[in-house]
Amino acid sequence: MKRILVTGGTGFLGSNLCVRLISEGHAVVCVDNNYTGSLDNVSDIIKSPNFKFIEHDITTPLKLDEHIDQIYNLACPASPPAYQGKMAIQTTKTCIIGGLNMLELAKKNSATILQASTSEIYGDALEHPQSESYRGNVNPIGIRACYDEGKRCAESLFFDYYREEKIDIKVVRIFNTYGPRMNPDDGRVVSNFICQALQSKDITIYGDGSQTRSFCYVDDLIEVIVRMMNSPKEFTGPVNIGNPCEFTVNELAEKVVAKIGSSSKIIYKPLPADDPKQRRPDITLAKEKLCWEPQVMLDEGLDKTIQYFKAVITAF
Ligand code: UDP
Repeated sequence: MKRILVTGGTGFLGSNLCVRLISEGHAVVCVDNNYTGSLDNVSDIIKSPNFKFIEHDITTPLKLDEHIDQIYNLACPASPPAYQGKMAIQTTKTCIIGGLNMLELAKKNSATILQASTSEIYGDALEHPQSESYRGNVNPIGIRACYDEGKRCAESLFFDYYREEKIDIKVVRIFNTYGPRMNPDDGRVVSNFICQALQSKDITIYGDGSQTRSFCYVDDLIEVIVRMMNSPKEFTGPVNIGNPCEFTVNELAEKVVAKIGSSSKIIYKPLPADDPKQRRPDITLAKEKLCWEPQVMLDEGLDKTIQYFKAVITAF
């Protein structure tokens, strides 16, 4: 049994991770300011004696009574409409000041710390698929910069703490992920399309829909995050994690409408600035070092996610 801190623990990935860690018998301290997360996501485990929730914003230092062995640093708004809206400055602060606070906590506890980095550090990539050696094409002053540059700076901080302070670090670059516990109002493409189709609302495609993403089901993602945390000390990453099956946004919309048998019509809206045109992870490194590759393909994952959103939407 380990004592594990999960920041961003009531968010989409964080809550799925907390549920997994509790089911394995670990003691979990879940920290979140609930700006984009929700306690509803941890309702299944909130009464567990091994689970503790602390409402806290990691941009201020966190004092814990107990010793911790591992930190998963997942806290950060991650949906473009969230971080581009009123939370841009908060997003940069969370990445950098929050990252520093968590690194100091890891140092104090001699804990291993995993940073949830992102495919966004590659920006509007000029190399395809993206491998870890690609250095990216980020607009440093655009509307995505708070997230992209925040996460890039966090990676640099993690590696400086590794070199100067000898902290055990793990850096994963997470590509588009979907599944249960996504917030229906989150604004990301999979949740938007499913919720729109279920409610017979227009399906909103941004741009002409020819841009691509590669979608990973959440259970696959949680599996590889846990593997990474527990991998040999010398493997720090960064490592790409995601599903390499690539689809256009148009293909995704057609799939969702067909699966739901929805009467929704597809409408086109302007493409937001700096929206990456193509994204697919090269996961050779994850396969080799973590013996991992995704098991759930898009059709199966979408079916499970549609079931989830059906229940959420009818509950309101
Ligand atoms: N997108 C879309 N309609 C929506 C939401 C998103 O066409 O209702 C597009 C968005 O412009 C992007 C892709 O879907 O090209 C993925 O967007 P998302 O916000 O899910 O994640 P991103 O990969 O951009 O961080």
